[in-house]
Amino acid sequence: MSDLSELYQQVILDHNKRPRNFGRLEQANRRSQGHNPLCGDQMTLYMHLEDEVIKNISFQGSGCAISKASASIMTESVKGKTKGEAEALFERVHKMLTGEPGGKVDSQGLGKLAVFSGVCEFPARVKCASLAWHTLRAALEAKNEPISTE
Ligand code: ZN
Repeated sequence: MSDLSELYQQVILDHNKRPRNFGRLEQANRRSQGHNPLCGDQMTLYMHLEDEVIKNISFQGSGCAISKASASIMTESVKGKTKGEAEALFERVHKMLTGEPGGKVDSQGLGKLAVFSGVCEFPARVKCASLAWHTLRAALEAKNEPISTE
């Protein structure tokens, strides 16, 4: 483990222990559910979308440290963004998570999300990290069916 991945681990552990935007959102007008059967991660996403802007967002759920930290950092990253910006971010994160192991990651402007750049080295963990993002997309598209990473 390099120093960099130790730093990344600290960020993930911190968000797992003290998840941001955790809990139910009363004024939510979008809600979606995600499930990663491979690991048992579950989450419910609450979103208050108004004029194509994510005014507020929160999540509830249970799962491994990576899934929880990913949901926590995802909510921080998209709060206040437009629907289009959030979808663009989804594409970038998805590309990063499913990239070639050891491949070059374009993490510029990704901020804290770069902590997940090492996840593509662990294929079993990719779905833990991407669950929150798939659930986000379902909320943006107003899909009422629960989504599954399988
Ligand atoms: Zn997991």
